[in-house]
Order: sequence, then C-alpha cells, then structure tokens
Amino acid sequence: MISRGSNRVIQGALPCYPAAVSERLFMNSLRLFPVISLLFLNLLFGTAMVYAQNTITIIENAAQSDFPNNITFLLEAESDAAPITQVKLLYGAARQETLTEVHVEITPGQRVQAQHKLDTQVTYLPPGTDLVYRWLIHDEDGTTLETSAQDLVYHDQRFTWQEQTARSVTVFWYQGGADFGDTLMQTAIRTIDRLQDEIGADVKDPIKIYIYASNRDMRPALQSNEVEWVGGQAWPDLGLIVGAIESGNTDEIQRLIPHELSHQVLHQAVDNPYGGLPVWFDEGLAVYNQEIADPGFTELLDAAASEGRLIPLEALSSGFPADPDQAALSYAQSHSIVDYIITTYGETALRELTVAFSQATPVEQALSETLGIGVDDLDAAWRETLPGARANVAPRAPTPAVAPANRFNNAPALNQPGGLPLQWESPGWASLTLAAFCCVGLVAVAGLTLLVALRLIGVDKRTS
Ligand SMILES: [Zn+2]
Repeated sequence: MISRGSNRVIQGALPCYPAAVSERLFMNSLRLFPVISLLFLNLLFGTAMVYAQNTITIIENAAQSDFPNNITFLLEAESDAAPITQVKLLYGAARQETLTEVHVEITPGQRVQAQHKLDTQVTYLPPGTDLVYRWLIHDEDGTTLETSAQDLVYHDQRFTWQEQTARSVTVFWYQGGADFGDTLMQTAIRTIDRLQDEIGADVKDPIKIYIYASNRDMRPALQSNEVEWVGGQAWPDLGLIVGAIESGNTDEIQRLIPHELSHQVLHQAVDNPYGGLPVWFDEGLAVYNQEIADPGFTELLDAAASEGRLIPLEALSSGFPADPDQAALSYAQSHSIVDYIITTYGETALRELTVAFSQATPVEQALSETLGIGVDDLDAAWRETLPGARANVAPRAPTPAVAPANRFNNAPALNQPGGLPLQWESPGWASLTLAAFCCVGLVAVAGLTLLVALRLIGVDKRTS
C-alpha cells in the first residue's frame, strides 16, 4: 500500500539545512520546550499505559533505503480491541529538533499495514544523514500508541565503504586502501589542531566525511540542481562533508579536507539562534586552511585588482555569485582578506571575531571592536596591499551604517553560492537597454495610433 497522504509539518519541513532556517527552528524549539517536555512525559508514561492495556501490538516496524532514490518506511500493527483507524509517520534528521508528520493511508481494521515511500529526489538528504522515525497509531476508541524512536543512517549503498574515526571525525572511503584512509584522517587531525590555534575551537559534535573516488560517483549523491563546478559540499547542521578525490591525489585531500572541515568547526563554534556569520569570513578561513592552494587564485585576484573588478567586501557577506568566474574571484578575495586580517592583526583577531560572531554581533560592530575599523575601511586597507590599488577605491555608498535588518535571513552559502545576482553585477548597459526599449515602445504606440486613425478614415470613406 503506497501512502498518498499529504505531508504536514509539525515545526518546519525537513530538510532545512540553511543556517537561517535551522536557527528559526531552534528558536521555536526553545519556545516549545515546555510543550516538548510535556510530550516527553506523555510519551514516557502515556505510551507505557497504552502498552499496559496491550490493545495495539507492533508486528513489523522497519525502514529500507534505496540510495539516492527513496526510503521506504513499513509498519504492520494489530489491535485486540477497537479497530485501528489512523496511522501517522514522524521522521526527521537526528541532529535537528523537528520532525515531519505524514498521514499514511491505511485500510482501517484490527490488523493494518502502512507504507510510506519518501522520495529523496524531491526531499533531498545528503549521504550519511542520521534519521530518526516513529509511528503514531490511533484506534477507534481514541487509544494512541507511539512507537519508540528508530534510527536509520541514509547510507550510499552503491559502494562498500571503509571507515576510520578519531577526534570525533569519521572518514569514509571505498577506493585507495588503508593508506588513503590514513592520509584522509591525518589531514583531518592536522586541520583540527590548526583550527584550535586559529579560532580557539574544537570539534563539538561528531563529523562524518564521505570521499567518493570520482565526481561521476559523487554527482548522484548531491542535489540534482547543484552547480557543476562543486567538488565538495558541507552540511554543518548535519555534521556531514561530501567530496570527490581520486585515490592517490594527496593534493586534493590537502585542499578539500581542511576547507570543508574548517566550515564544520567554525559553524559549531559560532552556532547561535541569530546567525550573522559573513560568508567571506567562513569561506576565507576555509581557503586559508587549505594545505594546497587553489591554482590561479593569486593571478585572478591581481588581474581583478588591476582592472578595477574587485567585489565590495560588503557584497560578500551574504552569499557568492553563481557565475563560476565571479565565484572563484569571491573565494580568492575572501581568502586574501582573512590572510590580511591574520597578517595585520594576528590570530588573536580571528579568535575574537569568532567569539563575536558566536554572539551574533553584527559584522560592522564585530570588526570595529576587534580591528578598530569597519567593513569599508577594512576593504579599503586591504585593497591598498594589491597591485593597481590606486585605481581601486572600495565603493562606500551601498554599505549601511548598521547591519541590515534581514541579515539573519541570509544563510551562509557553503559551496552553494547564492543565486541572487549581486548589485555590483548590474552593468551600465542595462540602463541603455531600458532606454532603447522605451524608445521602441513609444515608436510602436505612435505607429499603432496612426494606423488606427488611417483605418478610421478609410472606413469613413467607404461608408460615405
Ligand atoms: Zn567553502
């Protein structure tokens, strides 16, 4: 029996990986704490009571995943009293406080079977996501049984994974043997040590890293609309990293692992209900931690500086452009600015900024209190260190004196540059095009008016 029941979300839908969404949910969970506590007590004693009455018995309770297509949840239950009339499935990511509720269609009776197939092509879940699920079973007399929580790891079963764990980080790989795994693990440990010095933070919650042997192997594990050039992805809310590295490619290990691990540790360090971590700081620190630099970043930055194409720092706070060239420049700039902060103010400044962002301090205020200068002045001072700096004055007009009110809604775009076109990308020819359209429109209206007038005259002549 396939469920055709519609999904109803108890508190937000799954998945909700962007930081801003999860922050809202976290706030909700705080507000709902008394309710959750009552639910917990109800669960503890209410379920026990139902079991004591022994009216509903669970015959089968299982879930099967078929990566990357779906997860099928199965239930068979029997009542020795009133017929079972309703079955609901609750599921969600174990790391998040919210569950999605599904009304599963059943044929009411003493013994019922329920099945729900979660289409993971629609509801995307990264490989390795830890899920929890439970069932709510109601009978005609109003008795409700809630089953205990079941765990399910959404594994990518297409490969036989090897794994190694240390310092709360587990690496998974399937090609390259033990040596490859050792290199992955050692690189991760070096990164964690380095991040402790830089931002004063350690791994708080376990992190899982899945390394595919090729981009082709990895693609089905990513969201279908993911941009082509993504070589790795991080989901800090879920403690997951996915990347593609050919066995033996040590350079790529030293580039990708520190980059993605930096995102995870920083996000765990600054986690707060209000967000506010600027993307340039997040990505800049990630690139700074790479043991192997991205090829061409220096040349890209120098060329942009010389030609006056640098992106205002303020524009890099909420997201990166989707255009690959502009995205690469955004990474290069962010790295260079973080490097400039460390060189000029020392790693102490990074630690202080991390503390400030963990307290949701607005970027302008955090920089002023830590470095003694705001976003624009930092941007201008950094530009002075680049080639062609004289012709490269940082624009000041778009920068608000305080953080914009909607800054908490802008989720950091971890390797998923935001699709919103940035203001600075609007070219000068846009206004010319608009003017041309206006002229064409006016000519068309004038022509149409003339045509109608002539036609009217023509009709008059024919009827006269
Ligand atoms: Zn990144």
